[in-house]
Amino acid sequence: MASLSATIQDVFNEPGCARNTHKSANEKKKGCTKQLQPGGAAGGCAFDGAKIALQPFTDVAHLVHGPIACEGNSWDNRGAASSGPAIWRTSFTTDLNETDVVFGGEKRLFKACKEIVEKYDPAAIFVYQTCVPAMIGDDINAVCKAASEKFGKPVIPVNAPGFVGPKNLGNKLAGEALLDHVIGTMEPEYTTPYDVNIIGEFNLSGELWQVKPLFDELGLRILSCISGDGRYQEAASAHRARAAMMVCSKAMINVARKMEDRYGIPYFEGSFYGVQDTSDSLRELARLLIERGAPAELRDRVEKVIAREEARAWAAISAYRPRFKGKKVLLITGGVKSWSVVAALQEAGLELVGTSVKKSTREDKERIKELMGQDAHMIKDMTPREMYKMLKEAKADIMLSGGRSQFIALKATMPWLDINQERHHAYMGYVGMVKLVQEIDKTLFNPVWQEVRRPAPWARAGDTWQDKALAQFEAEAAELAADPVKAEEARRARPVCLCKGVSLGSVEDAILDFGLTTVDGVKEKTDASGGCGACAIRIEEILEAGAFVGQPTQARNIAAE
Ligand code: SF4
Repeated sequence: MASLSATIQDVFNEPGCARNTHKSANEKKKGCTKQLQPGGAAGGCAFDGAKIALQPFTDVAHLVHGPIACEGNSWDNRGAASSGPAIWRTSFTTDLNETDVVFGGEKRLFKACKEIVEKYDPAAIFVYQTCVPAMIGDDINAVCKAASEKFGKPVIPVNAPGFVGPKNLGNKLAGEALLDHVIGTMEPEYTTPYDVNIIGEFNLSGELWQVKPLFDELGLRILSCISGDGRYQEAASAHRARAAMMVCSKAMINVARKMEDRYGIPYFEGSFYGVQDTSDSLRELARLLIERGAPAELRDRVEKVIAREEARAWAAISAYRPRFKGKKVLLITGGVKSWSVVAALQEAGLELVGTSVKKSTREDKERIKELMGQDAHMIKDMTPREMYKMLKEAKADIMLSGGRSQFIALKATMPWLDINQERHHAYMGYVGMVKLVQEIDKTLFNPVWQEVRRPAPWARAGDTWQDKALAQFEAEAAELAADPVKAEEARRARPVCLCKGVSLGSVEDAILDFGLTTVDGVKEKTDASGGCGACAIRIEEILEAGAFVGQPTQARNIAAE
């Protein structure tokens, strides 16, 4: 079994990762590893990422080996749903204390496994390593092996202590645990030419169930979903699938790619968000299955289902057009969602005044331009103040975003709808897009907005805190417009990397001073993208923009002297 550091190096060098494919041979050799610094795991540690990725396996007991706070931090922080077993939502932890830190926590872990098997008899136990036992040297691999043998039950070590890196790394280490200990260890009762794996789908708010009826109708069998509403036995026999779809590319690309290498299961990256994408994903699955021996008539059946579902979805969505006439949407999300919902919103007659592209790839941005035109307003890094101003000045009638931005909309007394992972509604598939439009309608026309916008009886016109805030913004904007030096200072002060606190000016200076041409080079000189890595795309854009204002810092200093 590979050591933890070798496994980490391996997942960082993942050839299926788009970022790796753009690296030079030298950079590939170096990998993406860098000593993690305080703050680097802000937004979730590796353990958290591993737990998020695996907890949706519903017949498994998830045992956190560590102090109780680690379990408290990670328990059920996504709204995944189960169609059966409930054991996955029970909180299990070894609750290490000071004595365990002195004498070691391995015995405690073994006893916890015994107690879980005796009281709950789950299909398997997943044991998550955390920082404290990793630092005191608890060997969870050895304990899990001993417990498996003793209790005749799979006890799977998930070796992703928080200090090794951020949440994304934890997702991939969870995938490595499946590849090392689970996938390929059991055989399915039977196989069919229509067996598929869905990888990186977590069944948030039960959204997989909005697509599964189409699979059932087409005779496609989801042999294993990793991990939404998943079962241990299904994951263990996932190696017999004929094709795979990878739904959330960042989370588990290593699982899809290694299953292709080991078992010859071809995969593609797809999405069930948006009408067009759902159709494309069904087509691609059919194509891969036919290539691997499924009857060619599957293609026609898929096309028929697509035609029927698209017609239904567009008819339902277009019914909202009269109500949405003239209404404008600000879409603050990321990745594929930045464009995959745009078509549905446009079909419903909503006007998109902007969509964020902070986490979007180059391809995502191209799709946005296709849908919204070359002048599409792509928001790279809008500050909360700018968002507030945009909403308050009614440049948008509703904001769709994740929970973190909700208070900006609420302060601006503007309708807001959660479309990220904590949402309570399922937006996947054809019916999901219709649901999204219905929820927008309910939010936009909720009478509460009129109520909260009414001035308080004691408020005087122009003297509310909102009026004062807007007046302050305008004064600041006027000051910058009148003073180009200040405006340039403000531009340079814009943050690029929030984890490491690196500004746009620092990144530009480093590029000019050291003649940098790669994200890794910028990371080495400034630390930008050394945390969660989300700003790497922004750095690529700064590098691409190239000819920004100014000369190398040294040259500027000499000139000034
Ligand atoms: S694993 Fe480490 S970083 Fe993560 S919650 Fe536990 S103590 Fe904190």
